[in-house]
Amino acid sequence: MKRIHNFSAGPAVLPLEVLQEVQQDLVDYKGKGLSVMEMSHRSKDYQEIFDDATATMKRLLNVGDDYAVLFLGGGASSQFYMLPLNLLPDDKIGNYINTGEWAGKAYKEAIKIGKKAHLAATSEDKKFSYLPKTFTISENPAYLHYTTNNTIYGTEYHKDLEVPKDLLLVSDMSSDFLSRPIDGNKYGLIYAGAQKNIGPAGATAVILRRDLMDKFNKNLPTMMSYKTHIDKDSMFNTPPAFPVYVIGLVLKWIEKQGLEKVLLNNQKKAAYIYDAIDNSNGYYKGTVEKEDRSLMNITFRLPSEELEEKFIGEAKKLDMIGLKGHRSVGGCRASTYNSLPIEATKDLGEFMVDFQKRNG
Ligand SMILES: *Cc1c(COP(=O)(O)O)cnc(C)c1O
Repeated sequence: MKRIHNFSAGPAVLPLEVLQEVQQDLVDYKGKGLSVMEMSHRSKDYQEIFDDATATMKRLLNVGDDYAVLFLGGGASSQFYMLPLNLLPDDKIGNYINTGEWAGKAYKEAIKIGKKAHLAATSEDKKFSYLPKTFTISENPAYLHYTTNNTIYGTEYHKDLEVPKDLLLVSDMSSDFLSRPIDGNKYGLIYAGAQKNIGPAGATAVILRRDLMDKFNKNLPTMMSYKTHIDKDSMFNTPPAFPVYVIGLVLKWIEKQGLEKVLLNNQKKAAYIYDAIDNSNGYYKGTVEKEDRSLMNITFRLPSEELEEKFIGEAKKLDMIGLKGHRSVGGCRASTYNSLPIEATKDLGEFMVDFQKRNG
């Protein structure tokens, strides 16, 4: 068996242990004589898998039964409209912090569907190379939305955003979800596409306070309404059954280590690459402010585009893939999600030093 160093931004690396467990149980799940893929989502065996994933999620976020955990289709991108459809009444204003591509899309989508939205802060003036340290909330706000980690630009909030108690905080955590301890109770709603940090593509986790449903939510198409999915415990229709099973295993894998340790490990991993950047005398240039650097998506440039291409090509020959920056920004990006083994970033850091020696 060969496993390469996979720095892809998503779908991304999964824990080897989890893949092996899936493999072992793939054809015959725990002696039941069928695969999880083939099970009715209404069967007792599947319900146990689903409930287990939900319960683990709640423990990891420290939230109780006043929160619902949903696993929806449509990607994190569908939440860009589901959120305002459900939680932004016409007489209120959705507040958004724009720190990058995805954060901006969330804001624009609210406007696109005819809602009122206010930019509470933006770092677009400097190409999203930092996180705004202040924000201004509009009159009559329905919520404040922010993106905890900016997958494309490589900035990350390392702590939950502090907001006034009466302001509903909602967050897109797709690319750093459960990469550090989070106090779920600070949030009205959290969503995260699974394929970055917690599983395969095909499911989006949505964790939200149940009481929000009584306030808003009117006459929406059935599938667009959070209430539909909450009322049926995420089983109104066929859920993304197999991805949720894998997510459940990844969540268990995270829980076994504990989020404190996961964070520590992510810090160590990222340091191999950031050190290579910082000790390169400017050969490698980090593209964001140091204090806002992401532990999940590490973005950097080389002295020229030709060298970047050579760097990515040579790395690939050494079985390090996924290092090309997002097509909208170029450069290099190493995604270092929870499941990426520490050897991967150590090897990349060493390769960076070696490459500079040969091409400096
Ligand atoms: C990848 C990503 C998305 C989009 O996710 P899809 O599941 O592809 O819709 C949204 N927000 C963030 C922060 C992301 O990293």
